[in-house]
Amino acid sequence: SSPLLAVRDLRVAFRTRAGVVNAVNGLSFSVAPGEVLGIVGESGSGKSVSMYSMMGLLDNPNATITGSARFDGAELIGMPTKRLNRIRGNRISMIFQDPMTALTPVYTVGWQIVEQIMNHEKVTKAEAWSRAVHLLDEVGIPDAERRARSYPHEFSGGMRQRVMIAMSLACHPSLLIADEPTTALDVTTQRQILELIGDLQAKYGSSVILITHDMGVISEAADRVIVMYAGRAVEMGDESTVVRRPRHPYTWGLLGAIPKPGQRKQRLPTIPGLPPGPRDQPTGCPFQKRCRFAMEQCSTLPPLIATGEEQNHLDACWLPDEVREELREEVA
Ligand code: SF4
Ligand code: MG
Repeated sequence: SSPLLAVRDLRVAFRTRAGVVNAVNGLSFSVAPGEVLGIVGESGSGKSVSMYSMMGLLDNPNATITGSARFDGAELIGMPTKRLNRIRGNRISMIFQDPMTALTPVYTVGWQIVEQIMNHEKVTKAEAWSRAVHLLDEVGIPDAERRARSYPHEFSGGMRQRVMIAMSLACHPSLLIADEPTTALDVTTQRQILELIGDLQAKYGSSVILITHDMGVISEAADRVIVMYAGRAVEMGDESTVVRRPRHPYTWGLLGAIPKPGQRKQRLPTIPGLPPGPRDQPTGCPFQKRCRFAMEQCSTLPPLIATGEEQNHLDACWLPDEVREELREEVA
């Protein structure tokens, strides 16, 4: 089947006083209908910027966006704002780490969902209200009829994220983009929210792009995964393949940051060093400064290709296949 979203060679550059900063360096991927695609990487890897630029939400006059992002046949890059606004919230909706940024504090949550529905569909207020209540009930808000009349600050963080999800589903989007939706939540609530997204995805058949810095979230919720580093995809493949047989040294590091059972969750990935700053991007492999295995060849940019057994498992690294098999065992 043809993809719901096909992104080709997406590039985002910012003009600054100090020169041009490349935030996204030629990202290509697609999302199939009904698929959950996870995009994982540390902050600053270009995950959010790539999504926001595609959705016309970058709001930065110094940004240049090139490449293509075809959603259900329509080109999003360069689409007039008015048309993009019609797609956003209707066919594509977004949820964020902090629902307060998307909810208005002075209106009841029920009313905000009603507005969302009435912005995109010709229905009566009464119809929209009963749909809002139904949605709140569906995302697990107890006593939804009454709670629809509450204000955002009257909900806990986890419940507020549920409200946000209800709002994002109001118009039955075919694509849901969730940017770190569980990062601010405790582990139990995080699991519940991921389950909820999975359930709703199964029920409505929406595709989901799940942005996270946490490989644990990926292995829990994603069908397919893109590992991003310094504005590039460095590994891409089925979730089970990437998690079980990771090929890129950066992915090994991210997976090392998942706490083992009985171990306390670490705050930071165990990869020493920091991602390159926007102004000191090395030529060649962007990971070379932090990579234990860097060699001379790494000063040339490795292509993102299938080098292992599986055709749809891509990575960008110069290490020979046999060496990688060995190293992975040792690192894991
Ligand atoms: Fe490390 Fe070189 Fe592979 Fe980059 S290309 S990840 S520096 S071994
Ligand atoms: Mg982000």
